[in-house]
Amino acid sequence: MADRRMITAIQRATSAIPGGAALKQRLHDDVTACGVTYWHLARRQDPGFTMMTYHRILAGLDPYYADGLPLATLKTQLKFFKRFCRVLSLDEIVSRLEAGKPLPRRCVTLTFDDGFRDTYTLALPLLRRYRLPATVYVTIQALERGILSSDIVRYAMRQTRAHRVTVRHTPTQPLEYDLSSEAARLRTLSDLQLRLTTIPNDERLTIVAAITRQLLGCLPEEVRVPDLMLTWEQVREMAAHQVTIGAHTLSHAVLTRLPLQQATEEIVQSKRILESRLQRPVEHFAYPHGAPWCVSPAVRDEVERAGFRSACTTLPGLNTPQTDRWLLRRVDGRQASLRSFVRYLTGQ
Ligand SMILES: [Zn+2]
Repeated sequence: MADRRMITAIQRATSAIPGGAALKQRLHDDVTACGVTYWHLARRQDPGFTMMTYHRILAGLDPYYADGLPLATLKTQLKFFKRFCRVLSLDEIVSRLEAGKPLPRRCVTLTFDDGFRDTYTLALPLLRRYRLPATVYVTIQALERGILSSDIVRYAMRQTRAHRVTVRHTPTQPLEYDLSSEAARLRTLSDLQLRLTTIPNDERLTIVAAITRQLLGCLPEEVRVPDLMLTWEQVREMAAHQVTIGAHTLSHAVLTRLPLQQATEEIVQSKRILESRLQRPVEHFAYPHGAPWCVSPAVRDEVERAGFRSACTTLPGLNTPQTDRWLLRRVDGRQASLRSFVRYLTGQ
């Protein structure tokens, strides 16, 4: 605890000197200082593992992907994991859990969702450099079409020159959105993204088609974005280099907003297609969006029945050996600093 008190004292002192705020931020991201704190605090933790979740990794700012993680933050976190944690593949963790074997202390596994191209171009070089295993959950349609169905509205907002869009969201009156500035387009995007993940999937598809027609003059399935998503060659190359490929459905629909039979099709067929393309078993699954309303007991059971050995949500938290393996929790890599990240990991 002495080290932690010393670090806190230094951090307090630096904020009182000129240029101290920048120095304080650097200390908050200092891998060694945060690692020492983590070792002290993690000693009292119950055995278990942390499952990290990442989506887009960005080399520069992108207002349309405010939920992306800066490359520098990923690098700091991977350095931290390499030095102060035991990073295991998901296969290894699940095998140990199935056999009732203990996990090492400060056990972490890394996951990347959706199949964005930057997982290959930006994250993979760092994973190789630090020799860290990871799991990448890919969406079949996104590989084939070059964009996630849930990202089409985002793309339309970025590309359009229209000044407004009308959304007929039954049973409410038509909603008119202002698109006359970038700030207005971003506000509209944020509102629509929330609405679209909570309504039945067929309604979502109708609304997305109407928006695409108004803003891009084409059908959603005609939208092609070069270089956004992985190619099959890149998926195969990653699978050959310490990356476990997991399934993330066919279309990235919210499974609880589909009839159960269709949800089962999304689960089973994504596994089958990946296994046939990669010629290896695909045993891990991630629920699209992953929030509590995106997973039901029936959907969870279909994932287990399909033969997956694990499935993960985006519910925050750490996992213990008693956590349901088909409802694993994850920790989002987007944190204000490494220090706040360590506090989160240790429940401080
Ligand atoms: Zn996803």
